[in-house]
Amino acid sequence: CGIVGYVGHSAGRVNTGHNALDVVLEGLRRLEYRGYDSAGIAVVADGTISSRKKSGKLKNLIAELEANPLPDSLTGIGHTRWATHGGPTDQNAHPHLADEGKLALIHNGIIENFAELKLELVRKGVEFQSETDTEVAAALLGDIYRNQLHGGSAKGDLTKAMQLACQRLEGAFTLLAVHADQPDIVVAARRNSPLVVGLGDGENFLGSDVSGFIDYTRRAVELGQDQIVTITADTVEITDFYGAPAEGKEYHVDWDP
Ligand code: GLU
Repeated sequence: CGIVGYVGHSAGRVNTGHNALDVVLEGLRRLEYRGYDSAGIAVVADGTISSRKKSGKLKNLIAELEANPLPDSLTGIGHTRWATHGGPTDQNAHPHLADEGKLALIHNGIIENFAELKLELVRKGVEFQSETDTEVAAALLGDIYRNQLHGGSAKGDLTKAMQLACQRLEGAFTLLAVHADQPDIVVAARRNSPLVVGLGDGENFLGSDVSGFIDYTRRAVELGQDQIVTITADTVEITDFYGAPAEGKEYHVDWDP
């Protein structure tokens, strides 16, 4: 029910001093008011995705993080879940992984056509670990990303893969994805579900609302319907689901949390 994303400074820039884990956890705390039954986080560090997720309140996730710490990182995503498909278990909590653990995805909303997509992916040999509609979106995105490589590209393009995945998804969704092979970006999409970008200096943020990053910046860009955004530490690029460039509406957040 709540979503946070973060990308910090790229190599060579002044360190902004933020660890992705801290930013994402703080954002999830601010988003607690929306209600949730599970929480999870993924960070990209040293060419791999590391994730932790737990049913119950954030304190359960924090206890898990104390027992099994995540590495310091400049790229991360975090989620609080309000279960719609599959009970509130650790396994059904987000993030959901795909592409052999190299891709992590979080989702607010409902993928209406998940059953037919799941059947298609199962036929291709995908094995699912959860009962969620979300894992189907993760697997679809992973499959598309992987096919880019089979198509001869040296490197996948997560933004392009997200566009293609969104063309096939029906329902309501805010999606955030990270990939181990593209450690400097978070790619997000929205349809019938909210998503806001927070603009920092040498760092950028994503949130289901501005509470997700209000402690760090008050410059926000609201995404329009059926848009995709790719953030790096220094750039924010918005397109529609077909790759055509789009504009967001920037505004200043003038209330205090
Ligand atoms: N439909 C997804 C699930 O049940 C996401 C629910 C949410 O918005 O948190 O896992």
